[in-house]
Amino acid sequence: MADGQTTVRAGGPPGPARRWWLWYLCVAGAAAVVLPFLPWTSVRTALRLLGALAVIAALVAGLRVYRPRHPLGWYLLLSGIIYALFCDLVWPLPQSVGGMSDYAATGLFHLVTYPILACALMVLPGQGRRALRFAGYTETGIITSGAAVVWWTLLVDPYVLDPGRIPSQPHLVALPMLDMVIFALGLRLLLVGGTKSAAYVLLCAATAGLLVADSALFLSTINGGDLPVLSMASWMAANALLGSAALHPSMAVTQPAPSEDDALDDLGTARIYIVTVVATPIMTGIFLLHESAVDRVTAGDVIVPVGATALTAALVVTRMRQLNLVGRRRAVALEQSLGKQQELQDELRHHAQHDSLTGLPNRELLYERVTAALAAERPGALIVLDLDEFKEVNDRFGHAVGDELLVAATGRLQKLLPAGDLLARLDSDEFAILAHDGDAADCIRIGERVLSAMRSPFAVQGHELFATVSIGLRALDGDLLTGDVLRDAYLALHAAKAAGRDQMTLFDRALSEKKLAVSRTVERLRGAIDRDELIVYFQPLVRLADERMTGVEALIRWQPAGETMIAPDQFIPAAEDSGLIVPIGEWVLRRSCEVVAEWHRRRHAVVVSVNVSPRQLRETDFAAQVFSALRDSGLPASALILEITEGVLVASGMVTDQAIRHLETLRGHGVKVAVDDFGTGYSSLAYLRDLPIDHVKIDKSFMPGPATEPGSGGPDPTARTMVKAIIDLAAGLKLGTIAEGVETREQVELLRELGCDRAQGYYYARPLPADAAAKLLTNAEWGTRV
Ligand code: C2E
Ligand code: MG
Ligand code: MG
Repeated sequence: MADGQTTVRAGGPPGPARRWWLWYLCVAGAAAVVLPFLPWTSVRTALRLLGALAVIAALVAGLRVYRPRHPLGWYLLLSGIIYALFCDLVWPLPQSVGGMSDYAATGLFHLVTYPILACALMVLPGQGRRALRFAGYTETGIITSGAAVVWWTLLVDPYVLDPGRIPSQPHLVALPMLDMVIFALGLRLLLVGGTKSAAYVLLCAATAGLLVADSALFLSTINGGDLPVLSMASWMAANALLGSAALHPSMAVTQPAPSEDDALDDLGTARIYIVTVVATPIMTGIFLLHESAVDRVTAGDVIVPVGATALTAALVVTRMRQLNLVGRRRAVALEQSLGKQQELQDELRHHAQHDSLTGLPNRELLYERVTAALAAERPGALIVLDLDEFKEVNDRFGHAVGDELLVAATGRLQKLLPAGDLLARLDSDEFAILAHDGDAADCIRIGERVLSAMRSPFAVQGHELFATVSIGLRALDGDLLTGDVLRDAYLALHAAKAAGRDQMTLFDRALSEKKLAVSRTVERLRGAIDRDELIVYFQPLVRLADERMTGVEALIRWQPAGETMIAPDQFIPAAEDSGLIVPIGEWVLRRSCEVVAEWHRRRHAVVVSVNVSPRQLRETDFAAQVFSALRDSGLPASALILEITEGVLVASGMVTDQAIRHLETLRGHGVKVAVDDFGTGYSSLAYLRDLPIDHVKIDKSFMPGPATEPGSGGPDPTARTMVKAIIDLAAGLKLGTIAEGVETREQVELLRELGCDRAQGYYYARPLPADAAAKLLTNAEWGTRV
């Protein structure tokens, strides 16, 4: 059984058995009241013996039925009672037979019962409870020594010593004192247990009964009387209480040890001390005064009560000291546990404020430090940095490599920072530096050092990885709130990313105004489809061979009510950033397909070229959206060209893989793909060979302008060379070419000469509303008919 638990053995006695103790107490108690008044001595004697036998039977029954885990104390009680009965049987009670010569010897034999009972009571609470084995003896000692004063001053001296009356049964003098010891041990049962069990209460009451019985017997005998009624009744009552204790289910319960707090806080015990400490000297004093008044002071009169009083005081002091030690131990334990609690709290705090992968402070701690720096009006800056293309590393090489790259990047960053500057990890690949105590130029220098340090590759698990960073820097300013500083630093970071990565942007007012304008645009754009404010314009695509209009490019316009029309450059970037481009792009696609399908029905078999944002290609159902637009409009798949930018296909990773899968699926059904603004993005052209594309749209920046040198007689020779190279490359790869931004007849001539397939530009037509474009189709010089 675990310490500190109160349990009754599993499967305990059946229900009725739990009540036996009560029946026993009632019957034996009634017998105790009635017996002394029975007129027949032999019947009384027989019933007394029967009472003793009943106690033995109750003890045996209790032990058998409840089977206590630690029965030794109860067995000792049983043997004590059997021994007493044996004494009674071998030497029948002097009161019943009268005048036996060997009273003294009989009494001595009787006295042996007391050590047995004392042992039983001492053993009981400590069994199975080490902590209780030696507990409560100081209290027992205090009560006993106090009782000794009472015994001496109230019984021994007035009834034995003063009258010089040594009783014929000398053991009777000792009996009350022994009973007091037994009673003190009985009280101990109640003092030391963590809970007061009913069995112990009954046992303690039995010891009190014994004390009353023997004290009454002593007084009666010393006065020459017979066995008094009170003595007999108390003795029987003690038996009844003892037997019912043995039959009570709680006799098998292992008492839990009281907590040390209980010991410190035990008011009941404190009261006993007070009564004892106050009463014993008073009794001793009164007694000695009385003795000296009648001139009967003997050595014993002084030694016994004064010695007992002194012993009581010494024991009280001992107990106080014990309690003091307990208190001190508790204080030490409390201090230790407070220390541990602090440690744990520090650990939890560290955990909550640090990142588990890199061990760096996290966003929360950074927030705290920025707040402190602002409050202290310290100079410095918050630098937020984000690893460019980290997601690609994760997608291509897995998270383990990604994690290792982050740790390596952390190490490199840490080496760069001056002592006192704080490096924190904000999110997966986002870090922040709180640069302290430097002016703006110092902070910018830190940012530049970071940029250049991160340009050299990292060796991670056999891969050479590049992890350049984009940086946003916000100088600290005492007037700002922490949230503002973070917001501004992020704004600068996004600007750095948008500006092409691997660079640093410092926050300034213009940046925040731009951001504000963008968010306002996004806000207004959100409802633009529903409010019918978006329009698709169509710009003709002209076949250079015969200068017929073979297609159109769909170009979006935004016409908010009562305002001038907004060009796509003004809102497409915001739509891309906010993700609004996805529904907008889908709308343009459906609308373009509808318009051009209508033209097809009018037998103008032109193609329509629709711009597709990289964000749209990230959608898992992009291909399905296209098929649905074709199906719903009735436009043949072969009449649709999707314009994508180079970046979408050149990057690596899951997003690109998905985009390529979409395009392959669509091409499998006849949809064509064109690379828009070709030549503005990536220098390597080799990738064109492997990608799912059909046309290249040469960016308008390549269109040769008027001759740079007067009299050279033709357009800018460098531009011409470039356009020729692109057209030749495309032809080699069997890709169609469309020239954008054609504004002059010379450009048209040049493109035709170089073998370009189609052209688009103001020279032929500006982007037009659907009906204006439709009109052009019906124009005999322009339109194509099937
Ligand atoms: P883009 O796809 O390269 O479209 C060609 C742009 O060049 C159009 O500008 C067009 O009006 C303009 N352009 C045509 N001919 C000439 C010319 O001779 N000279 C000059 N200087 N410009 C000419 P626009 O309509 O302002 O569109 C700008 C960009 O907005 C487009 O460039 C395209 O990237 C984007 N965009 C337009 N509509 C959509 C759309 O529905 N979805 C997506 N994702 N982007 C769109
Ligand atoms: Mg385009
Ligand atoms: Mg273009």
